[in-house]
Amino acid sequence: MYNVAFVDDSKCIAEKGCRLCIMYCPEADCILLNPESKKAVVITSRCKGCDLCKVVCSTHNAISMHPVDATTGKVQLGADQAESAGLGQAYAG
Ligand code: SF4
Ligand code: SF4
Repeated sequence: MYNVAFVDDSKCIAEKGCRLCIMYCPEADCILLNPESKKAVVITSRCKGCDLCKVVCSTHNAISMHPVDATTGKVQLGADQAESAGLGQAYAG
């Protein structure tokens, strides 16, 4: 079990120009701007669960981390967070 990031559209302000998570994510093409909703969207299959996007979005708190079922690839939004890779925690100090 590992975590992936998930964006809450109701909190994301990407339509106002915010791109913080997209800029800081160390994985290429992992967080994209959804051209229809104008919100950030995490490509689950590319996310390494480092927490960095969650840290940089701390003002709007739009990103949360959730376990993903390694067999089905489905994000388990209601489940408790699994162990973190911790990179974002290091940045948060
Ligand atoms: S940092 Fe937060 S508010 Fe900004 S685009 Fe990413 S999810 Fe949206
Ligand atoms: S947890 Fe890390 S790898 Fe995943 S979307 Fe956020 S910054 Fe990118």
